[in-house]
Amino acid sequence: MSIHKTSFTTQIQKCIFTLTPFLLACQPQEEKTKTTYPEDNWGEVTEALPNYYAASDVTKKHLELTKEWYEIAANEWGNFGPLEFWIVGKSEESAADLDEKYCNLRKSLSPNLEIRYCLDRDHDFTTYAREGNAGLNLRRNNHEEWSGFIVTMASKNPSPDEDDYKVVMLHEYFHVYQHAHIYTRDESKREELAKKNPWWLEGGAEYMAQLLYSRQEGVRDDYLQEVMKGKLRSLPMLAKSGVNRIDEISYGPRAMIAYDLGAWFIAYLIDKTSEEAYRDHFFDDLNDLDFEGSFVKNFGSSSESMLKDFHNNFLKLSIQEKMLILPKK
Ligand SMILES: [Zn+2]
Repeated sequence: MSIHKTSFTTQIQKCIFTLTPFLLACQPQEEKTKTTYPEDNWGEVTEALPNYYAASDVTKKHLELTKEWYEIAANEWGNFGPLEFWIVGKSEESAADLDEKYCNLRKSLSPNLEIRYCLDRDHDFTTYAREGNAGLNLRRNNHEEWSGFIVTMASKNPSPDEDDYKVVMLHEYFHVYQHAHIYTRDESKREELAKKNPWWLEGGAEYMAQLLYSRQEGVRDDYLQEVMKGKLRSLPMLAKSGVNRIDEISYGPRAMIAYDLGAWFIAYLIDKTSEEAYRDHFFDDLNDLDFEGSFVKNFGSSSESMLKDFHNNFLKLSIQEKMLILPKK
């Protein structure tokens, strides 16, 4: 059961950086400097490998583990980029050195960025050294030249000695997959296609990561069942949360409920349709048809009626009945 507990503390801040572009999008002074950048290869599968940057106290074994699980994810879901991995150890001093390297690289890739804002950012690598966790920082907008994915992995919550580190790697890479399938640089449009509240993106990343992990050699047969049963802890919390549905929950103190039951929503949706419908066809149609258009085309009903059915019928089933929708190993 220790995995569940670790997941609980990890996931709540797992995507803290995902918020940053949304916050930037709220700053109106960016408007007047808006530039249009030429077309690029965003969203195309690439041969290019990620770049790895590690703090001086990160072991070779930790780096190799990160590479190994990136490869498992990219082999399964396709290789997208540009992608950077920044791996932080436990030393805040080494993390601060890595921050400097990071900000210099950002500046060289997007010369119109102010390096002091980068160094002053809220959740920097020293925070990761202190608190651990992992996150995806998506860069694709109208005020930076460089677009790409920046994944930060740390040394605790989870530590590289825990199996949860592998699941978190898969989770972060599924975010890369999700965002690679949204082409526009317009951040409000991106938010519309990705959904602002965590139920959709986090539920998807969490379920797909757990599913892929459960299929790896050596992972016990009932792993997926156990981990998904653990996520039902959020069901009584939803009842007490003051909202009726997972899609009403934003990032913040109650986000865990959306991570847990969002993962169940994706499992439920895949059970109603197919893994290919969710993983391949929905994302392939997303840019052309928008969220709702792609949802209706590929899942056969509106997101509203699927969410209603999920809450009014599926979530009311017994645990044993819910478990029946999960694939067996
Ligand atoms: Zn996430």
